[in-house]
Amino acid sequence: MSRQRVVLATGNAGKAREFAAALADLALDIVPQSQLGVTEIEETGLSFVENALLKARNAAHQTGLPALADDSGLVVDALGGAPGIYSARYAGPGADDQANIVRLLQALHGMPAARRGARFHCALALLRHATDPAPLICQASWEGMVLEAPRGNGGFGYDPLFWVASRACSAAELDLASKNQLSHRGQALAQLDRALHQHPAFWSLLTAAPDSATA
Ligand code: IMP
Repeated sequence: MSRQRVVLATGNAGKAREFAAALADLALDIVPQSQLGVTEIEETGLSFVENALLKARNAAHQTGLPALADDSGLVVDALGGAPGIYSARYAGPGADDQANIVRLLQALHGMPAARRGARFHCALALLRHATDPAPLICQASWEGMVLEAPRGNGGFGYDPLFWVASRACSAAELDLASKNQLSHRGQALAQLDRALHQHPAFWSLLTAAPDSATA
């Protein structure tokens, strides 16, 4: 039986790698929106959940497929929650990971370790279709601390600055499987996996593959 295709509403290669690894065993065919020609939508929400919904709805609307989106970011206590939902563009529109890291280090310059507490937050939204009135929402956070200098070459985004106390290393020093076991995204994806198997309304995605949805 062919698998139900689900469009993954992200253009972020780091996120896409983590999704692919975490959802490999699920009976779904997860297709990045770039492969389906989806144009990105402006993230005008004021919360992770709102932006995840906007992205999933946009991808479902443009493809006619069920859509899964992630909105995530780093929430730093000493900065009143910044960069938060603006994490991808903290150093300005189109900023890359390196520029965002430099901006964060500047913002926390001279801040003692006790005041460098932070957490990654991830909101996932799964819509069965563009006008789905009851989307599946899963959220999780990952507690840590912002380092004074980058460490490690793995992961993406702010990983080199995120200290994982339980492993005594930065998130960029974890392999993909370990990061997925601990991280905000990994935990939210584990919730999603459980919900897909438990709730009949979503479980049907795993069992039914209507031809119309595989076009
Ligand atoms: P979004 O694509 O608008 O959700 O922005 C997500 C941004 O948050 C990324 O570009 C990263 O800067 C940051 N971010 C989210 N998750 C992670 C992670 O797992 N590691 C490092 N940075 C992350």
